[in-house]
Amino acid sequence: MSPSNLIPDSGTSLLIGGKLTPGERGVFTTSDPATGQALGHVANAGHADMDAAIAAARTAFDDTGWSRDPAFRANCLRQLRDALRGHLEELREITIAEAGAPRMLTRGPQLEGPIGDLGYFADLAENYSWETDLGVAEPMGIRTGRTLRREAVGVVGALTPWNFPHQINFAKLGPALAAGATVVLKPAPDTPWCAAVVGRIIAEETDIPAGAVNIVTSDDHGVGAQLVTDPRVDMISFTGSTQTGRVVMAAAAASLKKVFLELGGKSAFIVLDDADLKAAVSYAAFGVCVHAGQGCAITTRLLVPREHYDAAVESAAATMSSIKPGDPNQPGTVCGPLISERQLARVERYLKSARDEGGTIVTGGRRAGTGGWFIEPTLIAGLSNSATAAQEEIFGPVLVIIPHDGDDDAVRLANDSPYGLSGSVWGRDTERIRRVVAGVRTGTLSVNGGIWYSADAPFGGYKQSGIGREMGVAGFEEYTETKLIATVV
Ligand code: NAD
Repeated sequence: MSPSNLIPDSGTSLLIGGKLTPGERGVFTTSDPATGQALGHVANAGHADMDAAIAAARTAFDDTGWSRDPAFRANCLRQLRDALRGHLEELREITIAEAGAPRMLTRGPQLEGPIGDLGYFADLAENYSWETDLGVAEPMGIRTGRTLRREAVGVVGALTPWNFPHQINFAKLGPALAAGATVVLKPAPDTPWCAAVVGRIIAEETDIPAGAVNIVTSDDHGVGAQLVTDPRVDMISFTGSTQTGRVVMAAAAASLKKVFLELGGKSAFIVLDDADLKAAVSYAAFGVCVHAGQGCAITTRLLVPREHYDAAVESAAATMSSIKPGDPNQPGTVCGPLISERQLARVERYLKSARDEGGTIVTGGRRAGTGGWFIEPTLIAGLSNSATAAQEEIFGPVLVIIPHDGDDDAVRLANDSPYGLSGSVWGRDTERIRRVVAGVRTGTLSVNGGIWYSADAPFGGYKQSGIGREMGVAGFEEYTETKLIATVV
């Protein structure tokens, strides 16, 4: 398949009220970050399209049995999962071409993992305890039986980024639909095709009722912003940068809607002095290169014992210089391109700031390849934790290595960040690890390489990394309201 003719001439459509429709503003171009070339055109929604999508979601929620039929919803989710599996190779090529996702990651969190996770949410719709009997009490002398009921939150506006498009789109669609909500999804302008194809599959191959899922692609952030202020939308589920999350939260205040936020991170990888230094450092250095570091939970600050700093720098540099950024189509590629020229320029600005603040680029730092937006895996040494490159999210294959003076100091440094998304601890002594884990204020933590990513495991951030949790029962309950029914007995 040649990238330049990947999208058929007819382009893609919006999904509004069960119909595949053209965009009010025509089309916009989606590109291949590995070549910088256009892949094709996708439907470009305007405000009237978004208005229609919100109306359709409202009608599907208010005027159909969708929110009250968990068995039907479970069937629809399984049908969607199976239909997506029927298009796996088409979806794989799109994900590699549009998101620059290394092929190997499409076997996991970039595609096959999230499709499979829809089954977890289907099971949850069927097995969840929608009602809980709280028993009888006598408040103010009145004998009262109490029932706690969970109900769908209503219409959800989902706003998503480009880095793991399917993972994030399905981590919202899965639990929201399982809970009985209806959804308007506005994907990132950089990865509209990934979402539009899912819209086509929903319309053509599932019984998901008209309006329960609407997919609105647009190159205008303002079309997404419309979801945030529209009073017909009950909840915003947003994944993206902390900066945009702040804007979304403030805008949602006008209509006081529920806001669920998954935001940025600057997570720490703590190596204790009893760890296998080389193994730990190599693992951390490798992790930063995966998908060119474009993951919110990647551990981008490496905290190592001061006495082993030089050895750690050497090990990290050896690993990072051995990983060459390359064609994401190739089965062996770990580090593909950055998503856009804009993102490449942003990474380069951070590298300049690191140099200006006294840091040393130990390895990497240069653009790579002959087309597309590639940068070499880059190791920065000699900066303190307060430096710009150590405090701000870079979203590239960039690791900052910082010395610590023992376990308590490592915890202090890990927490010295506006973010609190994830982290990693490596060591041998379980009691010391337990104390460090208790001290670090983040939503997920890996110990000695443990994997926290799974459908049943809640994911999310402390501090400016977000509000709420995605995945797991906690993630499902984000899309519900609680109703307490009190009956005189
Ligand atoms: P972004 O914040 O620029 O955009 C995210 C989405 O919000 C896009 O769909 C965009 O169109 C939309 N948007 C932009 N301005 C808006 C506005 N004013 N109102 C409503 N919607 C608006 O993020 P990005 O550059 O697409 O993605 C990268 C960021 O996402 C990184 O900061 C990364 O850490 C974060 N991220 C977080 C998680 C997580 O789960 N915590 C996961 C992946 C990515």
